[in-house]
Amino acid sequence: MAGPAASHGNKRFLIFFDFDETIVDENSDDAMVQAVPGRQLPGWLKDSYRPGHYNEHMQRVLAYIAEQGVSEDTIRSSVEKIPASPGILSLFQYLRAHPKDFEAVLVSDANMYFIEAWLRRVGARQLFQKIFTNPASFDSSGRLVLLPHHSHNCARCPENLCKQAVVRDYLAQRAQEHGCPFQHIFYVGDGANDFCPLLILGPMDTVFPRRNYPIHKLIAEAQEARPSVFKPAVVPWTSGEDVVNHLKRLLAER
Ligand SMILES: [Mg+2]
Ligand SMILES: [Zn+2]
Repeated sequence: MAGPAASHGNKRFLIFFDFDETIVDENSDDAMVQAVPGRQLPGWLKDSYRPGHYNEHMQRVLAYIAEQGVSEDTIRSSVEKIPASPGILSLFQYLRAHPKDFEAVLVSDANMYFIEAWLRRVGARQLFQKIFTNPASFDSSGRLVLLPHHSHNCARCPENLCKQAVVRDYLAQRAQEHGCPFQHIFYVGDGANDFCPLLILGPMDTVFPRRNYPIHKLIAEAQEARPSVFKPAVVPWTSGEDVVNHLKRLLAER
């Protein structure tokens, strides 16, 4: 049951965003390699990656970058240079123009330093009510230290982050704070790790998978194999404008 839009400063709609290859058009960790002298990581470092342990791998990469003497300024400007995905800034502009309707939350396996640096550069930090990601900050030696976001019990997800657990806990927290659930939940993402949270969305909710990215295929498979389990509506996007157009139609209806 949804109350009037602005009765408690409540927003009617909640929109979750992934970061890498959703808000930005690259993987921010890959962009980091551009800051390394020679613009590539040594073989031993690349080979040290073990599936499901990406966060630990990235901790080693950041340590290596610091050992190479790469400064915070260089790291920050590498992050700031990452291009936005097509139409994403228009989508941000649209959401900012409807502050009473949309609450925006970011859920990402990148890290807080990259995300905040990039969002500040485009003037979008304030759009997000909350950012859930891996903590990262510079230590006294000038190294960007990365930590896992949380621990969880989901067998489907990497050990440092289950986006379903994040979404579930956030919805529970918001329900407790403002007493009524959101009318609709939206989720904008591209990656395999954006699939898990979709399993707790309902038929009134909508997922925006980036067209031809891994999540798009996973959704198609789920819809075919388990049509009764996968509930949200699916609206693939190529540009953020596609998402804007869908939201505009929805707002016109209500
Ligand atoms: Mg992504
Ligand atoms: Zn999970």
